[in-house]
Amino acid sequence: MADTRAERITELIGPLRVKPGSKVDLARDFDPRYKPSQVKKADGVELLRAGIELLADYQARLAAQQTYGVLVCLQALDAAGKDGTIRHVMNGMNPQGVRVSSFKVPSAEELDHDYLWRYVRRLPARGEIGIFNRSHYEEVLVVRVHPENLDRQRLPAQARGNGVWDRRYREINDWERYLTDNGFKVVKLFLNLSEEEQRVRFLKRIDVPDKNWKFSAADIREREWWADYQKAFSAMLSATSTRWAPWYVIPADRKWFARICAAGVLAHTLIEIDPRYPTVSPQKLRGLLAAKAELEAQAPKSAAADPCR
Ligand code: ATP
Ligand code: MG
Repeated sequence: MADTRAERITELIGPLRVKPGSKVDLARDFDPRYKPSQVKKADGVELLRAGIELLADYQARLAAQQTYGVLVCLQALDAAGKDGTIRHVMNGMNPQGVRVSSFKVPSAEELDHDYLWRYVRRLPARGEIGIFNRSHYEEVLVVRVHPENLDRQRLPAQARGNGVWDRRYREINDWERYLTDNGFKVVKLFLNLSEEEQRVRFLKRIDVPDKNWKFSAADIREREWWADYQKAFSAMLSATSTRWAPWYVIPADRKWFARICAAGVLAHTLIEIDPRYPTVSPQKLRGLLAAKAELEAQAPKSAAADPCR
């Protein structure tokens, strides 16, 4: 049963994985409306529920084992559904074992440090799942599309220039490899939204009063940079989908399907880690049995010695 589930997940997410070393052209290679024909919206609720149940079970084991940690990096353009994805994927997990960190425009203190500093400070511990809502990849996305962000980072002259993006890709790959080698799996999800679907979602934020608070005029301005972002995403996916931390491009035009895929990729990672509840040593087991005998001996006359059995 568990194996069939694992196989179905592998099958679902296979087409979303960016082959390490491949040259990605986002518009050509990944359709924001992609969905296998056999997956129907009517089955979506049940599929997501099953996925979430599986995640909850694996998260409990990951937390108990305290050997591996998982870092989920979520990247997307505005209105692609980052928040909803996080909410749904976390549903059912023990909040004590999950930490969400959102990365915005860097603060003055953050700009006083190297560019990975603020991300390092938010890494999960062993047993934890850390979710980055936006991530270190902003350093090769928004910073690349709007180079004035790079000026604010006050890099020495020799660290700038044409090679800066290739160097950052390499540094990010090396950092993720280091994390992976030391027991921290890095899961990278890019929510791929179409320009038209973003337009419709922005309009909804204007038309539906309960969604007005989500509307931001800055988002509309950022949309003008669509083509530059597509290029930056394509270059990032080409350079940083690695054997140890591949990218998954999640088709995001259908929210329900995107959530299933995101849960699927995380589930796949946890299945691969296969965390186990720690087993107790023979000495500890003897201690448990001695404590049990003691508690049983204290049972009042009216009660069973051990009502749990
Ligand atoms: P939401 O709009 O759903 O609340 P959000 O992630 O879009 O979530 P915002 O506060 O709207 O949050 O935007 C954060 C902004 O911070 C984004 O425009 C993003 O590009 C920007 N940002 C993130 N990291 C960096 C960075 N390293 N340098 C410059 N800008 C960054
Ligand atoms: Mg925003």
